[in-house]
Amino acid sequence: MTINIDEKQCVVDVLLNKVQSHPCKDCGKCVFGYEGITQLEMILKDITEKKAHSDDKALLMDLCSVMKNQSMCDDGKEIASLVLEGLNTYADIFDEHISKKQCRAGVCKKFMTVHILAGKCIGCGECLDACEDDAILGKNKFVHVIDQDECTLCGKCFEVCDEGAIVWAGVEKPKCPKKPIPCKKR
Ligand code: SF4
Ligand code: SF4
Repeated sequence: MTINIDEKQCVVDVLLNKVQSHPCKDCGKCVFGYEGITQLEMILKDITEKKAHSDDKALLMDLCSVMKNQSMCDDGKEIASLVLEGLNTYADIFDEHISKKQCRAGVCKKFMTVHILAGKCIGCGECLDACEDDAILGKNKFVHVIDQDECTLCGKCFEVCDEGAIVWAGVEKPKCPKKPIPCKKR
C-alpha cells in the first residue's frame, strides 16, 4: 500500500477512512494490531475534527513504529507503514491541521466556515428563518451576515437559499460585510 493524494483530497481524512475500514478493527488476535488501530483512529479523528494536541504527530509516529514491529500479521504492519508514509510525505499538511487549524483541501468540515456573498444575497430572509442557532443577522432587502461565533456548521441555510449566496470557505475566506448592509441585488 502507498499513499498518493491530489489537491482535492486531505491526507488525514484519507488515512482515517483507511483505518476505519481496516480488518484489524474486527480481528483482535494481537494487542498491538487491535489497540494500535483503535488509537490510530482516535488520534486521526481528533486531527480532522480540530481537536488535535501538539504532540499528536509524534504520538502517531511512535504508535506506528510499535505496530509495524509488533503486530502479529501483515495487516497490522501494512496499515502502520501506510500511516507512517503519510506522516512523512505530507508532514506539512499534518502540521497545518494541528498547529494552524487549517485543512488546505477544504475536506475536514470543522476547519471550514460558512459565508454569505454580498453580491448574490437578495435579503429574502429565508436563511435567517432556517438557522436554528440564531447565527444569521439581517433584515428585509439587507445582505445577511453570519456570526461565525454562533454558526455550528449545520448546513441548513444552504438548503433554503435559492440565490446560491451561501458558500463554504476553507483557508481562503470571501470578503463579506461585518454587519447587514442594503442589498445591491434585488
Ligand atoms: S443568503 Fe440567500 S436565503 Fe439568505 S437572505 Fe440572502 S438570498 Fe436570502
Ligand atoms: S450553517 Fe447552520 S448554524 Fe451556520 S449559519 Fe447556516 S443554518 Fe446557521
